[in-house]
Amino acid sequence: MKNNVLVTGGTGFLGMQIIFQLLQKGYPVKTTVRSLNSKAKIMEILTNNGISDFSKLSFVEVDLSKDDGWKDAMADCKYVLSVASPVFFGKFENEDELIRPAIEGITRILSAAKEAKVKRVVMTSNFGAVGFSNMDKTTITTEENWTDENMKGLSAYEKSKLLAEKAAWKFMEDETELEFTTINPVAIFGPSQSNHVSGSFDLLKSLLNGSMKRVNDIPLNVVDARDVADLHIRAMITPLAKGERFIASADGEISMADIAELLRQERPELVKNMPEKTLPNFAIKVAALFNQQAKEGKLLINMNRHISNSKAKDLLGWTPIATKEEAVLAAVDSLAKYGLLA
Ligand code: NAP
Repeated sequence: MKNNVLVTGGTGFLGMQIIFQLLQKGYPVKTTVRSLNSKAKIMEILTNNGISDFSKLSFVEVDLSKDDGWKDAMADCKYVLSVASPVFFGKFENEDELIRPAIEGITRILSAAKEAKVKRVVMTSNFGAVGFSNMDKTTITTEENWTDENMKGLSAYEKSKLLAEKAAWKFMEDETELEFTTINPVAIFGPSQSNHVSGSFDLLKSLLNGSMKRVNDIPLNVVDARDVADLHIRAMITPLAKGERFIASADGEISMADIAELLRQERPELVKNMPEKTLPNFAIKVAALFNQQAKEGKLLINMNRHISNSKAKDLLGWTPIATKEEAVLAAVDSLAKYGLLA
């Protein structure tokens, strides 16, 4: 008999993939949603992806910004996968709108988990909490690295994840019973189970729908959602994962220009709106003098992209199923399948 798992954010791109894999492995899953109206939609998506037995799936309505209901939601759960977080790219009035709920959300979850005597919480953090301040391209970024929260060009979203993870480890300093682990994914691609895709897919969308006027050469690390979900489950059940962070990334790096070339070769039917012209990295660096988006781009160009995924492989036996190219192609195929490239 497998132990109950609470997954926060069942409506999310990654949350859905994790629920799917847990159900496939026979775990009883409870997922949190902000409104129970989402239940039918989630079940429809899981059905479309081959799940037919819903006897082990239940739903609970709770919000990260409110205490109500969290302890009860966890009462019978051995594990909590804390996946939900405000995910927001682009412009907004005040970065605190994003940072405060992220910090309060994980603190609320850890407090409730402690009270409910949960064994382990696995938090979906972000590579933005790990490697955005390592500019030395002769080194390898590992889980030992921490991004400096005052880093120029760090987006409010990345900062919200960094500060939320820091707050979580701080909370854990006095903990003796509750166990805690983080997964720190780079940009998540791979297939989507519905027309709700991850925010990182916007990069691919804008490349293919013509809204990106020139192909830039910003380097990226990417990972497939199926591999990130698998890593969460390994981190949940492996004793050695207690108190550890794990970078989730496919091997190697890939630039936007590499992605454009890959798509020209492998998906020629989808590239008719893709720009021919390229934008050299020095142009982004110049624009960074006066434009916030370019500042964020400059940081992405300058940071070290040699990152290690060995810890997850060695400690948890994680063997990603998708290469960086396969993760990109699967994401693009999902965008095409769900009509999201218009
Ligand atoms: P997503 O599809 O936008 O999912 C976010 C989830 O969080 C949704 O279920 C959303 O619920 C929930 N949520 C947001 N604010 C909430 C609140 N106040 N109370 C309760 N639930 C709330 O994003 P995703 O791409 O799957 O991301 C999942 C996790 O992975 C996040 O923690 C994200 O930071 C992390 N991550 C993502 C990437 C990536 O490339 N996608 C990379 C690294 C880390 P609603 O549907 O109700 O809004």
